[in-house]
Amino acid sequence: MTPLKRNGAERQPTISASVTALRGVGPRVAHRLHQRSITSVQDLLFHLPLRYQDRTRITPIGALRPGDEALIQGEVELTQLRLGPRRSLLSRLSDGTGAITLRFFHFSTAQQAGLARGTYLRCYGQVRPGAHTLEMVHPEYQRLDPERTEPVEDYLTPIYPTTEGLQQGTLRKLTRQALAILDEESADGLKEWLPDEVLAKRQLPKLNAALRYVHRPPPDALIRELEEGVHPAQQRLAFEELLAHHLSLRRLRYELQTKQAPELRGNGRLSRQLLDSLPFTLTRAQQRVTQEISTDMRRSIPMLRLLQGDVGSGKTVVVALAALQALEAGYQVAMMVPTELLAEQHLGTFRQWLGPLGIEPLWLVSKVRRTERSAMISRLKAADLTIAIGTHALFQPDVRFAKLGLVIIDEQHRFGVHQRLALREKGSYDGYYPHQLILTATPIPRTLAMTAYADLDNSIIDEMPPNRQPIKSVVLPDSRREEVIQRIANACRQGRQVYWVCTLIEESEVLQCQAATETAKRLARALPRVRMGLIHGRMQDDEREHVMAEFKMGNIDVLVATTVIEVGVDVPNASLMVIENAERLGLAQLHQLRGRIGRGTLQSDCVLMYQAPLTEHARARLSAIRQTTNGFDIARRDLELRGPGELLGTRQAGVLNLRIADLVRDRKLLPDIQETADLLLQDYPDHVDPLIQRWVGRSLNYGNV
Ligand code: ADP
Ligand code: MG
Repeated sequence: MTPLKRNGAERQPTISASVTALRGVGPRVAHRLHQRSITSVQDLLFHLPLRYQDRTRITPIGALRPGDEALIQGEVELTQLRLGPRRSLLSRLSDGTGAITLRFFHFSTAQQAGLARGTYLRCYGQVRPGAHTLEMVHPEYQRLDPERTEPVEDYLTPIYPTTEGLQQGTLRKLTRQALAILDEESADGLKEWLPDEVLAKRQLPKLNAALRYVHRPPPDALIRELEEGVHPAQQRLAFEELLAHHLSLRRLRYELQTKQAPELRGNGRLSRQLLDSLPFTLTRAQQRVTQEISTDMRRSIPMLRLLQGDVGSGKTVVVALAALQALEAGYQVAMMVPTELLAEQHLGTFRQWLGPLGIEPLWLVSKVRRTERSAMISRLKAADLTIAIGTHALFQPDVRFAKLGLVIIDEQHRFGVHQRLALREKGSYDGYYPHQLILTATPIPRTLAMTAYADLDNSIIDEMPPNRQPIKSVVLPDSRREEVIQRIANACRQGRQVYWVCTLIEESEVLQCQAATETAKRLARALPRVRMGLIHGRMQDDEREHVMAEFKMGNIDVLVATTVIEVGVDVPNASLMVIENAERLGLAQLHQLRGRIGRGTLQSDCVLMYQAPLTEHARARLSAIRQTTNGFDIARRDLELRGPGELLGTRQAGVLNLRIADLVRDRKLLPDIQETADLLLQDYPDHVDPLIQRWVGRSLNYGNV
């Protein structure tokens, strides 16, 4: 694109130009901007303010209330130095309607002189109660010439998210330039791709108007609405972004459907053998989803299916049946899981289930010994019929499957679209793509699934195995620890097994492990007759595997653990769980952890211990988790509560790489997204590509994943 040239005017950069084309962007500022992922003028326009200040009107001092942020002006009546424990400079400013004290803790002599009695000042700051009058501490201020009227701002002042070394003033200057370019160039710069009928139906503004509004709101704009992100101008941008992501996923899905997959038609012999050997029969829901998966795998189009089922709903056996169908048809299976512990767990289950059928599962995690690993790799290369279970190590470059028919990914929320695509490519050979089955225990609300997982089909296990006793949960302060320890002693005497989960707010694994080690020691002292085990993320594999096996066999009564046991661990005899610092965890994580008990027919109990005092949010979370054990209800409460580490906020945040939209805040937009996408694909097909390019383009390179 050639820059526009105007008579006498300097060359204007275009919307797609680099930020370095703007005035005031040298290498240092450019570097800071890059740190916030701002490289083009367009990025700058999509970098929205976090909050706003109102400097468009002067508030009479008499009308101020504590907590207000306001622009005031008046005459200094008195300035004096206050000595004492904290030296400060106090100025009394009056405008005829009232007086306020300006308080400075840091000041120079020159500053003090500049605030002499009779000076006119304009100040901006937050109002707080003081000893005699209201106060502003360290307000921004400028001296005024009483003979002249100094204009106020025409717009609300945007406050941008920033990084160190990048001033608000700089961002404001740059966005002003970017908005000017937008005005000049709106015809071919940031083109409007949402048809009028779409905007009219939802009463949303046009793109350029929306951008101008959020960067420079008029004085009468509702600041609260803007700060909550629910103004139509912001909703318009969020809507377009969500739509673009949805369209890009739909395109991925479409592309996948043009690919070839092996038709996995087993004869059912192995599956039948497994079913006959199980001590239970499948629930109706398990039968239904098994059928859905089986039908998909028989087709020559690659399956891409999400299997949702609450913790303990019995996803593993469904996976095993899918794996057997692939093996029967003469194809290999790969199963990727997020943690080594989970890999161990599945290895144990599959050995038990598939071993008798003559299938020996492989275990590929990062710490498998070299010689063992190369033996496994040779077997995979030689088309050995097996299921390989592993973490990311499963898809390292030297691992090649000769005949991969099915890829299973457990616990989807840890993997985003990118990993999904990368896996698909890695497993492909001779133009064939493996079928993919993705498991999640985190229920995803339907409208969200339709937006964020639009490239997937859905199967839901909506029924629990029979005879499960609902888990009873109690919430107790840490001060009642002694009681809890007694309870453990009693439980162990009755032959029950116990998890004691240590959590820390720091994500640091080292600290978590230290805390768990410490707790295990203390519990061992308090309960000398109880057989104690310890498991955490920094133990050697074989050590951890050994502890887990001992616990499973009932040789350990109390297993002290970090949150490594959060996913997948299955020991049906464990029926009591204590979670320390439960107030620090999000609902979804608590639900997952608690899902480690209540997996058999025993009555199970969960003790949620907390450190007082509880915040309001933490109290609401703990009460929600105490009251319900249903994952879908919990997901719904999670959406309402929005605490830290919860379902959508943290975990799903990475699913789509969103800049403006927020899957929780903007969830009301979701139901409309699919419908609008249909309309665009049908009636405005040439709008689809540019939209994807604008919002997703640079982060997802289709030809090259
Ligand atoms: P999740 O969905 O959390 O992965 P699992 O597959 O680990 O659940 O199953 C939880 C427990 O329920 C396991 O011990 C499993 O053997 C058992 N189970 C699975 N399906 C059934 C069923 N239909 N009837 C009884 N128990 C079952
Ligand atoms: Mg599981």
